[in-house]
Amino acid sequence: MSIQVQNVVKRFGSFSALHDVSLEIPEGKLVALLGPSGSGKTTLLRVIAGLEAHDGGTVLFDGRNAAYRHPRDRRVGFVFQHYALFQHSTVFENIAFGLRVRPRAQRPSENEIQRRVQEMLDLVQLGGLADRYPTQLSGGQRQRVALARALAIEPRILLLDEPFGALDAKVREELRRWLRRLHEQMEITTVLVTHDQEEALEVADQVVIMNRGRIEQVGTPEEVYDSPVNPFVYNFLGAVNIFRGRLADGKLQVGGLELDAPEHSGRAEEPAFGCVRPHDLVVSRDGHGMPVLVKNIHVIGPWVRLELRRPDTGEPLEAELPKESYRDLGVSVDEMVFVTPRKFRVFLEGQTG
Ligand code: ADP
Ligand code: MG
Repeated sequence: MSIQVQNVVKRFGSFSALHDVSLEIPEGKLVALLGPSGSGKTTLLRVIAGLEAHDGGTVLFDGRNAAYRHPRDRRVGFVFQHYALFQHSTVFENIAFGLRVRPRAQRPSENEIQRRVQEMLDLVQLGGLADRYPTQLSGGQRQRVALARALAIEPRILLLDEPFGALDAKVREELRRWLRRLHEQMEITTVLVTHDQEEALEVADQVVIMNRGRIEQVGTPEEVYDSPVNPFVYNFLGAVNIFRGRLADGKLQVGGLELDAPEHSGRAEEPAFGCVRPHDLVVSRDGHGMPVLVKNIHVIGPWVRLELRRPDTGEPLEAELPKESYRDLGVSVDEMVFVTPRKFRVFLEGQTG
């Protein structure tokens, strides 16, 4: 089922949690709502679910106004970060819950429930644990039971609100890969709320970047990471170096570097800045580019991070390069090197996103 969010506004008293939010979620895709805490992700998810009334706009499921569907007919499955399982019921009964509470006419037979629950248990790879109680499971297993419970009702939309947020990093990584594989198997339209950039970039088909109740950018993980539309997205999705200078004739002049910004040509001279990811900063000793001092060197597995400083302004910069290139470069602390951006984007001062 596809989801269309059109011009949705949500207020809590005088506070606007969602300002005119519009979003298309295509059938069968996994879309991540990514943003800092308080940016409106959960509110948007709850509006989509019909759990939260909105003050303006429309939510359509398959082109039909979702508000006119009975909640039972919406066929929406949920998993929340702290959506506690029923502690006094077995794993089996937790998963069977959504089927057992159906009105008699729609309730599957006991045999059918057995079959369906077993299928869900196999799907989430908990086949042998049907008789356990939630307290006898690890955090990761509990979230998989929660997912099985959501999937047992054969939802047409799956809404996940930080489902792995309470788990430790290693388990979270395993579970998100597993979720991706599961999604490929089931192809249920899924909206995943997360504040974890890596999680969103790794599992989602489309990433929706939210900030203060607005959508900043929608794109594939590659698009949002490589081509952020504004400084907020740049910052939120990873480390970034800022080169402040003056823009004239579509070129940014900064500390001996000239960055082409044809998108800004034709403007009067004005202050602007370039954003460059640390791995897009080419480091050399050949005298071309901006001279900087090496202040620190960190070797992190196959990568090396150089902490740099501009001698003219004292501003810190950061470069990341493969260990091999670092060896070839042969630099040490307090030496002078030269940096040139390989890839960058120029924004006008005051354009904060
Ligand atoms: P996120 O999930 O991105 O962390 P939320 O959607 O939970 O953000 O919240 C967005 C904003 O709306 C926050 O400032 C939050 O304090 C506010 N908010 C959320 N729910 C309520 C509520 N029931 N009453 C008042 N304010 C709320
Ligand atoms: Mg939230």
